[in-house]
Amino acid sequence: MVHDDSATKAGPGFRRGELTVHEHAHELGNVTRALRSTGLTVTLVPTMGALHEGHRELIRRARSVPNSVTVVSIFVNPLQFGPGEDFERYPRTLDADLELCRAEGVELVFHPDRAELYGPEPQITLNAGPLGDDLEGASRPGHFDGVLTVVAKLFGVVRPDLALFGEKDYQQLVLLRRMAWELALGVKVQGVPIMRDADGLALSSRNRYLEPEQRRAALALSAALVAGHYAGPRGPQAVLDAAREVLDTEPAVHVDYLELRDRELGAAPADGEGRLLVAAKVGGTRLIDNALVVLGDGRTDLPENRS
Ligand code: AMP
Repeated sequence: MVHDDSATKAGPGFRRGELTVHEHAHELGNVTRALRSTGLTVTLVPTMGALHEGHRELIRRARSVPNSVTVVSIFVNPLQFGPGEDFERYPRTLDADLELCRAEGVELVFHPDRAELYGPEPQITLNAGPLGDDLEGASRPGHFDGVLTVVAKLFGVVRPDLALFGEKDYQQLVLLRRMAWELALGVKVQGVPIMRDADGLALSSRNRYLEPEQRRAALALSAALVAGHYAGPRGPQAVLDAAREVLDTEPAVHVDYLELRDRELGAAPADGEGRLLVAAKVGGTRLIDNALVVLGDGRTDLPENRS
């Protein structure tokens, strides 16, 4: 049930139908606590900003949750960038991000600075466990420790009932779901399908680094996943072979990994649902993508079998 007094009870840090940007954790925490006490729930969409249509989809889904207030966080998290990665040059487009949030009817944005979130230097961080060292983690040591630490912190500040993350970062989604469950954080973690450009390229804030020719070459990633998907009925090896064949046509695409796993990112099953994941560098830009693959006879997912 929605109570009309939500705006009043939430205090000065919340105005119904308007965007309020919070930089201070305790103020936002007070607002979300007050909103919850009026019977509303809180849905969190964590982002690093440079918002695009993929983020917009997450926000729309958050906004469509009945009787819930959406909080979008915008924070380029230094803990999840390794030495030599693009932390310094990561795109920061706050004005445009706030405009997108406003256009989508978001009422609360959390935009802390580093000191607000971590103090002088964080002493306690999370360890993502064995899956944190696999796939993306093998090339980006400590990346998922940083992701889990910041998301746990955001959960602590916002106390959301629901948090939405994109399947684009599939390993991140699996790890965050596991974190919420293993640490009993009381938050439901939900995935949102990958948003793509019309030509298939998965949307990413890093796509803006790509020169036109690199962007064209990068289409090999999604094309490889499509080829892998359609090879599903012929089994795991056929999936990998079909995807690799497409990637091999593009010398500008330097593949880091191409792997077929189960939905929790354990060993691939011979039959049923699998995830095909790819990471590659195109020029200096690291790109990732993934897709569902149905292996063996479980062909219900293929479009031609949909009724
Ligand atoms: P980022 O700002 O890159 O940390 O992303 C914030 C959230 O948006 C994460 O949950 C991402 O998985 C999600 N996201 C990024 N790109 C896409 C996309 N193309 N489709 C769906 N979700 C996405």
